[in-house]
Amino acid sequence: MLAQKMKKITKLHPDRKAIWFIFKGDQLWFIDREGTLPSGQFKQLNLNSDPDNCCYHLDYYQQSACIVIDLQQGEVELEQGDWLDLREAMALLAPELFLMAGRAWQVINFIRTHRFCGQCGQSMIPIKWEVACQCHGCGHRAYPRVSPAVMMAVVKGDQVLLAQNKRNKAGIHSVLAGFVEVGETLEQTVAREVMEEVGLGVTNIRYFGSQPWPFPHNMMVAYIADYASGEIKIDKSELTSADWFSIDKLPEIPGHHSISRLLIEHVLKSAIPVDDSI
Ligand SMILES: [Zn+2]
Repeated sequence: MLAQKMKKITKLHPDRKAIWFIFKGDQLWFIDREGTLPSGQFKQLNLNSDPDNCCYHLDYYQQSACIVIDLQQGEVELEQGDWLDLREAMALLAPELFLMAGRAWQVINFIRTHRFCGQCGQSMIPIKWEVACQCHGCGHRAYPRVSPAVMMAVVKGDQVLLAQNKRNKAGIHSVLAGFVEVGETLEQTVAREVMEEVGLGVTNIRYFGSQPWPFPHNMMVAYIADYASGEIKIDKSELTSADWFSIDKLPEIPGHHSISRLLIEHVLKSAIPVDDSI
């Protein structure tokens, strides 16, 4: 799964078979509301526009090629199905297919936003052997941007620190998170963000896992850290509340597709029970 290097397709044969990730604007084509993506031969899609401008082989899913086509803002009459944005798609797709859809979206978002050279201003064109755009004027080459961000479960005994972020839906509690600044190690970002957002010191920072997050091009890197010092004092420009929670008194947490949920469940399941009698 996701083991193949992505390649640009310069000409699609009408008989080419694939699972198709077809975007118009920021929306993806589903043939029903159960999350079924179009599949089969290219000619069966009945697309009237030329897809060769942005068309990439992403990888394979269960032996089927996965191909993204960007229709940009093209007028397309669907014979069947609907256009849904990626957040809606997240609730419908199996995790592996959502990962592929996120990959597809990041490729076309990159091509759309690199039409001109950032160095000399001339036109750029996608190169064929990898996902990159090159300027014919000065030779500058650009690759898709990935913006790393960390999230961290701060653990104290059998409790985890969860916060309500102003940007999230009301009531959802999650672990703290923040973007990596230039020149910073990921562990430094973890310690800085916890201190900035809730005024706590942490120690024993260890890696948990990672997840590409295509809104629009983040890489979420998840950590666990132990509480070391301080009292909770929230940054009110970012958070509305923050507190310690145990597994038996858990508030509403993020949905099943997010690594933040896996992280919260993991730390609470492996938490050390606190013996109040001592
Ligand atoms: Zn240039």
